[in-house]
Amino acid sequence: MITANEIREKFLKFFEDKGHEIVSSSSLIPADDPTLLFTNAGMVQFKKTFLGQEKRAYVRATTSQKCLRVGGKHNDLENVGRTARHHTFFEMLGNFSFGDYFKKDAIRYAWEFITEELKLPKEKLYITIYSDDDEAKELWMSEAGVPEDKIFRLGEKDNFWSMGDTGPCGPCTEIHVDQGEHMTCGPDCGIGKCDCDRFLEIWNLVFMQFNQDEQGIRTPLPNPNIDTGMGLERIAAVCQGVYSNYDTDLFLEFINFTAALAGVTYKKDGEDVDTALRVIADHSRAIAFMISDGILPSNEGRGYVLRRLIRRAYRFGRLMGLSGCYIHKSVAKVVEVMGKQYPELCENAEFMDRVVIMEEEGFNKTLDKGLALLEDEILAVENTSAKTLKGETVFKLYDTYGFPIDIINDIAEKRGIAVDEDGFNAFMTQQKQRAKAAWKGAAGDTLAARFQSLLEEGVRSEFVGYSNLGVESRVA
Ligand code: ATP
Ligand code: MG
Ligand code: MG
Ligand code: MG
Repeated sequence: MITANEIREKFLKFFEDKGHEIVSSSSLIPADDPTLLFTNAGMVQFKKTFLGQEKRAYVRATTSQKCLRVGGKHNDLENVGRTARHHTFFEMLGNFSFGDYFKKDAIRYAWEFITEELKLPKEKLYITIYSDDDEAKELWMSEAGVPEDKIFRLGEKDNFWSMGDTGPCGPCTEIHVDQGEHMTCGPDCGIGKCDCDRFLEIWNLVFMQFNQDEQGIRTPLPNPNIDTGMGLERIAAVCQGVYSNYDTDLFLEFINFTAALAGVTYKKDGEDVDTALRVIADHSRAIAFMISDGILPSNEGRGYVLRRLIRRAYRFGRLMGLSGCYIHKSVAKVVEVMGKQYPELCENAEFMDRVVIMEEEGFNKTLDKGLALLEDEILAVENTSAKTLKGETVFKLYDTYGFPIDIINDIAEKRGIAVDEDGFNAFMTQQKQRAKAAWKGAAGDTLAARFQSLLEEGVRSEFVGYSNLGVESRVA
């Protein structure tokens, strides 16, 4: 069996042999780009090169990029644990051309890599193109020999890629793998018709040709570029013959680790246990990489995303009967397993451990009381016709018990109860206005103040993330 580490290496080597510079992954915090919360694709570190604002010493590059899709245009948090193919944190393999090669070579390279290097069976591969991109269609037929009936035209939603609301963008073409008829979701199953895991999207080749401004107006870039992205976790699943990313070597070690800790067995103790194990494995990877890139739990911005992930993972652990602090242990496991590929994890290991423990201890104090309140509220609305948790209740769980909305959604959804998110948001806005009026310069968040003193104590001699700290963490 080919391991994920071997696939990553093979990919970078393949493109290096084709004249690409191997460039290191950039941080999860985009460098001086206020339009983006997190790095969500391989092209993010090359944005200025695409825009013609920065020149590089090379015109071809290849990377394995750390990505996070929680918040902003690309948000997959709710998919995690539900689909077999979405993570919060994942690695994106990519090759890039800065005004050098274009559609023809991008298509040829991708096809050669998956059919010759990875030996995926051609008959299982399907292609999508942007609606009127006849050129891409012709190239798939002439360069790769893909039959016409395996090429599908899709619209903007699927086949026009943009990083965010503004920035570089362009039409794209994607490679899908048919995972087999037994995965069919129903009579309407098919590419572009459903969102199930039968036709798995593995690789996106973007023809970067435009820059989109705040008004949505697209102007051509100085040169046409290539930007591709293939999820390592997905291609690993395909190469390892499994139907879920969570059953690859990238995840099983973490899943089994937490299962042993909780005294449960993956795939033997029911769907709830499996979901909990998958969520904890996913979130632990994200937590480790976020902290090592300089993000700290806080009540705003990136720090709040981290806090949400730690708390959501913690609640899923509690579901399996875990008590005390345990998420820091699975986070340490991530450092142990992935530290070789990403040394920044090891440099921050001790600090990371203490940050996660503090956050777990804090949440542990209020979790049980909050869960009891939530249970009472659910029982109260269960027999009403609206079956909806009021914004006020949700806000109380958030404000007094530290429940992020994701946890409330997870629990309510399982019970068939809706959540009044608009009502909750209205309470949030009011609270922010009150806080603004009352602000006297004090640190409102006691945990954040403790993280700050941890940093000042100099827990580790060198905290590489310190210089990267997002504003919201620094002021908290
Ligand atoms: P999907 O339609 O499955 O949500 P996408 O179209 O949003 O994927 P792209 O923006 O095209 O994804 O990103 C390029 C590639 O990155 C995808 O083809 C996939 O292999 C991978 N990828 C995207 N989102 C995720 C995720 N949340 N977890 C793991 N891999 C992902
Ligand atoms: Mg998506
Ligand atoms: Mg897609
Ligand atoms: Mg896509």
